[in-house]
Amino acid sequence: MTGDGIRDVIIIGSGPAGYTAALYTARAQLRPLLFGSSIFVGGSLTTTTEVENFPGFPDGVDGPDLMDNMRAQAEKFGAEMIDDDIVSVNLTGDIKEVTDSEGTVHRARAVIIATGSGYRKLGLPKEDELSGRGVSWCATCDGFFFRDRDIVVVGGGDTAMEEATFLTRFARSVTVVHRRSALRASKVMQNRAFTDDKIAFAFDSEIAEIKEANGMLSGVVLRDTFTGKLRDLDVTGLFIAIGHDPRTELFTGQVDLDDDGYIQTASPSTRTNIPGVFAAGDVVDHTYRQAITAAGTGCAAALDAERYLAALN
Ligand code: FAD
Repeated sequence: MTGDGIRDVIIIGSGPAGYTAALYTARAQLRPLLFGSSIFVGGSLTTTTEVENFPGFPDGVDGPDLMDNMRAQAEKFGAEMIDDDIVSVNLTGDIKEVTDSEGTVHRARAVIIATGSGYRKLGLPKEDELSGRGVSWCATCDGFFFRDRDIVVVGGGDTAMEEATFLTRFARSVTVVHRRSALRASKVMQNRAFTDDKIAFAFDSEIAEIKEANGMLSGVVLRDTFTGKLRDLDVTGLFIAIGHDPRTELFTGQVDLDDDGYIQTASPSTRTNIPGVFAAGDVVDHTYRQAITAAGTGCAAALDAERYLAALN
């Protein structure tokens, strides 16, 4: 921080992207300040149990432990963390301003946005409680845990078809549950799913209830959207693939967003349309949405910010 109280870098978001950006900028002596939310510190991985695909952990790692370690590693090199929400931003000038929930304004020459995205939920009781215990939003992350199981995938778009098809590598059976009588997915994705022997379809149906036994998902109840009739489906896995929403409301009107609300960057960099503002992780990413890719782009944002600041001097 310079004598005028203006920082080099402020980072918004405490997931793998934000913590990695904090680690790199701290090691570059930029004394970053990271805002990591008041209620959801550590990001999406704090809502899961075992993570088996983050490199460096041959026996897997508990999601919250991984995030605690990322935070500790960045703090060790001088990154400052405030567990609070940024509630408004003014990013367009040379000096960027971000305001926390108590109304304090923090200023910096560069800002890295790493606010992630949220999976859409069904909004049913036990859905959150059983996350990582039979309920999942990510086949790439969790498919491997469902070997020889009967599972259900909710959704009718491309993502749902991709998840269902991918899950047949592990599962004994996959039932796709969709509220309407036709899928939204592209014809190619539909055909791939329709011709897969392991995939069955429950059209005009929705999940009415999530059942639990001994702390694990033990089945679901389906409701026919026309007749209201209920029926049990005996599954031990529920994958919810009804979309995700990037956390970008704060930046609307300043940072360029695409049609789905994700921040646009000048690929392959992390630069946004505003000089000195960079974005990383799931808030940018439609495609990969993994902890390691978020961490990777967090690193890239830190290096981009470092170069931007060096050019200012
Ligand atoms: P996030 O991890 O979402 O973190 C963003 C953070 O920013 C959040 O804490 C949020 O509260 C905070 N934030 C948002 N707005 C503000 C604000 N205004 N002020 C302050 N803070 C703010 N990936 C894998 O690679 N392997 C897995 O096994 C795996 N399992 C998963 C299991 C679950 C249940 C979920 C939900 C995801 C899983 N993922 C997994 C995906 C992975 O968690 C994400 O891809 C990754 O966390 C994205 O990182 P991120 O830093 O972009 O955002």
